[in-house]
Amino acid sequence: MSVSGFKGLRLTNTLTRAKEDFVPIDPDNVRMYVCGPTVYDFAHIGNARPVIVFDVLFRLLRHLYGADHVTYVRNITDVDDKINARALRDFPDLPLNEAIRRVTEKTAGQFHKDVAALGCLKPTFEPRATEFVQPRADGRADMIGLIQTLIQRGHAYEAAGEVLFDTASMPDYGELSKRPLDEQQAGARIAVDTHKKNPGDFVLWKLSSPEEPGWDSPWGRGRPGWHIECSAMSAAYLGEVFDIHGGGLDLIFPHHENEIAQSRCAHGTEVMANYWLHNGFLQVEGQKMSKSLGNFFTIHELLETESFGGRKWPGEVLRLAMLMTHYREPIDFSVRRLEEAENLIRNWQLAVNSAIRTGEIRSLQDIKIETLPMGVLSSVLDDLNTYSAIQSLSGNLRWLFKNDSQGNPEVPSRMPLLASLVLLGFDTLVLDSLRRFEQIDEEGTNAAVERRLALIRDKNWAEADKIRDELLAQGVQLKDGKDPATGERITTWEVKR
Ligand code: AMP
Ligand code: ZN
Repeated sequence: MSVSGFKGLRLTNTLTRAKEDFVPIDPDNVRMYVCGPTVYDFAHIGNARPVIVFDVLFRLLRHLYGADHVTYVRNITDVDDKINARALRDFPDLPLNEAIRRVTEKTAGQFHKDVAALGCLKPTFEPRATEFVQPRADGRADMIGLIQTLIQRGHAYEAAGEVLFDTASMPDYGELSKRPLDEQQAGARIAVDTHKKNPGDFVLWKLSSPEEPGWDSPWGRGRPGWHIECSAMSAAYLGEVFDIHGGGLDLIFPHHENEIAQSRCAHGTEVMANYWLHNGFLQVEGQKMSKSLGNFFTIHELLETESFGGRKWPGEVLRLAMLMTHYREPIDFSVRRLEEAENLIRNWQLAVNSAIRTGEIRSLQDIKIETLPMGVLSSVLDDLNTYSAIQSLSGNLRWLFKNDSQGNPEVPSRMPLLASLVLLGFDTLVLDSLRRFEQIDEEGTNAAVERRLALIRDKNWAEADKIRDELLAQGVQLKDGKDPATGERITTWEVKR
């Protein structure tokens, strides 16, 4: 590893339980994998937390290493027994494959709309599990290939219609979750244990009945276990060892533990990823928000309906509500928290508006990312501390407003604030303001021009000049001329650079 890859970023690594310097394997291609959604139903706002947290990390890595030097993979799990159940329930008259396709396409489409509204960039690759079950024409890693390797290397065995991972074959199995062995065994379901060598052994492949979806394999027509999907898709795009693997806290065991076991044993490597990051839970009254507890609100509901607090919530507010807390801490989801986020957004919006009004920016491209204030950058570099980044932005904002209200002729630049908003993924806020300004400006300017022409016809030169000067102060330059056909006075305008 080269020290030159260290850019000041420190991350808490679940693998070592310590905050470590982030040194990428290859600074020219920083590689991150995050477990994506199982597409059987709308995503809830708890599911949005890892998507938002790792979007901030993606943006930060792009800032540090260059936008073309970061590869972010987030998969879509489109094979799962919950999907089959949903397909049978919603489309009982369709052939199963078609019904499954309808469920997964609709759900994945909704997920994309939801997370885009939360300001999340698309990952570099978004592989679907079903496309990585069988060997691929492009030679990228696939699940059946990985399982075959695991059997050949003595890490997996066939029993009672399943292929199982042999946990006893890996001396340091359990290094991520550090669960005591007896707890691992207690966690396994006893009823299906009889065919397992060890209770902790987990499924890599299981046979499908004719009514279940299945793929041909050396072990018969069947489907993959959940964990092997991520081992295959991460290897397919990021290689055998990569930099960062992320997800929610609940994925540490068994999912990530088993991904590590599969990948390391199949590739014969010391690690699967160097840094393992886990976000804390979004909670409702102290309990994890989850489908099974029924205490959830979908992203879609919050954005589009009046189901939470009797009103809709903009995507930026939901995003900020998430980032106001450090990603490893739990969040209690409440109307109060959203209102607090909304107040802050409103103030940001005012500052963005004045930056546009005074001509400091005319497009997103005008924002100078190098003006990012030290307080914000050093906060996010310290284990992605968005809480303290936002605190320091609030200080910056109070100072801006104070200067504005005192009519200070040397209005301080809003550029550092704008740069921070872009880094944290609130660029939609800036874009929306720019768009609104264009609209309001155009209508307002046309009306003012008409008023001025009327004043000129009345020979009220003083008032007419006043309008011209006001428009000029807003950056609008008027040009008087004559219509070549009618000889009538006409006035055109343009936005002055
Ligand atoms: P699932 O669909 O349950 O596999 O979850 C998808 C992602 O959302 C995983 O990374 C989970 O860890 C994460 N997740 C699920 N529920 C919550 C929650 N209440 N708070 C934070 N993250 C969650
Ligand atoms: Zn995964």
